[in-house]
Amino acid sequence: MKTIRTISELRSALADAPRPIGLVPTMGYFHEGHLSLMRAARAANTTVVVSLFLNPTQFGPNEDLDAYPRDEARDLALAEAERVDIVFAPSVEEVYPAGFSTTVEVAGLTEPLDGAARPGHFKGVTTIVTKLLNMVGPDAAYFGQKDAQQALVISTLVRDLDMPVRIEVCPTVREPDGLAMSSRNAYLTEEERQRATALSRALRAAEQALERGEVDAGAIIAAARHELDEAGIEPEYLELRSAIDLTPAERVNGSTLLAVAARVGRARLIDNTMLKGRSA
Ligand code: AMP
Repeated sequence: MKTIRTISELRSALADAPRPIGLVPTMGYFHEGHLSLMRAARAANTTVVVSLFLNPTQFGPNEDLDAYPRDEARDLALAEAERVDIVFAPSVEEVYPAGFSTTVEVAGLTEPLDGAARPGHFKGVTTIVTKLLNMVGPDAAYFGQKDAQQALVISTLVRDLDMPVRIEVCPTVREPDGLAMSSRNAYLTEEERQRATALSRALRAAEQALERGEVDAGAIIAAARHELDEAGIEPEYLELRSAIDLTPAERVNGSTLLAVAARVGRARLIDNTMLKGRSA
């Protein structure tokens, strides 16, 4: 496995790399969620590139960029164990040199949910993902369903800008007690870690309500909300939306996304589930 720090070295290393090339973009501090994307990329590509870049432009001024957990040595060892070929770990200056002034924005899909809660976040994401796709030129890029809105936004980005890459969205990997894996789980104290399981319990409660035949948004959300209330968690959002275009859903109908964000202690956690109803 090669660790590469500059765009020019990356381009030389990839010039004669055998295709297909799979790219897994990450911000590091790997957990099983990241490793599952590397495995999916390894299974379907001859060359696997993982980018490890804590992208400052997707963090708001009062967010956790400085506190975000990092352990590059551990990440490199984990990537190597997954038979990754190249880890691209550039500096901030390499990615955003003086004079950097171009951004890429996706309208509409980036407005609700995390777009509303984190102004500017998706502009940072779509700009860095565009840059990484241009640097690597992969045949496929791998993202997690854990960040469902991000996956939709990126699929739209590559479609709208005619980028010749396939976007693969991989299932959310969870701890045995249901908590979605996240680098930010490292912020949780033991007590908070316990309370945080209410997010996935809330999603399961909604799924169970649907199984009982409930399709009304209000009732589904109330079932989920009850689990959060029990744990003393006030959601930043808890919303049912179309999984196609993120417009608000009045009822579960076809593919509907139930998405939640909440602060637990210092950690801002997100999770979601796809509720499949009967199509209209
Ligand atoms: P991050 O390093 O948090 O930016 O995540 C890098 C990629 O891993 C993104 O595509 C995430 O959606 C994905 N990811 C993060 N957590 C999980 C998880 N628990 N299961 C599956 N994918 C995940």
